[in-house]
Amino acid sequence: MYLKSIEINGFKSFANKIVFEFPQGITGIVGPNGSGKSNIGDAVRWVLGEQSARQLRGAKMEDVIFSGTQSRRPMGFAYVAITFENANRIIPLDYEEVTVARRVYRSGESEYLINGSSCRRKDIVELFYDTGIGKEGYSIIGQGQVEKILSGKIEDSRELFDEAAGIAKYKKNRTVTEKSLEQERQNLERVTDILAELE
Ligand code: ATP
Repeated sequence: MYLKSIEINGFKSFANKIVFEFPQGITGIVGPNGSGKSNIGDAVRWVLGEQSARQLRGAKMEDVIFSGTQSRRPMGFAYVAITFENANRIIPLDYEEVTVARRVYRSGESEYLINGSSCRRKDIVELFYDTGIGKEGYSIIGQGQVEKILSGKIEDSRELFDEAAGIAKYKKNRTVTEKSLEQERQNLERVTDILAELE
């Protein structure tokens, strides 16, 4: 599995539709300061479900939409699609290629797509569990993040190892199950109280 291409349209500095093709191997993206190199990484984080504007170096989510220049009107929407070659089925879908896409309008209306079909954000997040690709995975390492990982809290580095070892998914499932168990425990207590009052 590898990242084959990224299509960006109306996202941050990319007013026109642009498609980056990545052949196998290493690809370097070079350009002057402020030309949009980091915006490409932001686009990948965003399409994978990033919800924090701050993580995308903005103040509010609308900041991901091209805001215009002196010669160009702002765009009304932002669209990003990333395509993975999936011959070895590491992404658990029976397709040779998997494309995930996200679109958002200034009105706040938004949609996620997997191979052209509408889906929930949750579906995209779960699709990439344990692949190392998710927005919290270790495939995207932003500026300054290396030092953060090396000097940060041990629990934060632990999350990276959990993801690499393939247990992150089970930990997340456990948290969800523990929450519903707690909810059921509280419901049971209420029922017991009501029964006691009736007796
Ligand atoms: P450096 O080498 O300094 O890290 P870079 O090539 O990584 O720079 P980016 O940080 O990706 O550059 O891009 C910053 C540019 O993107 C700025 O010029 C900024 O104005 C522009 N930009 C960010 N958000 C938007 C937006 N919503 N609309 C238009 N332009 C935007």
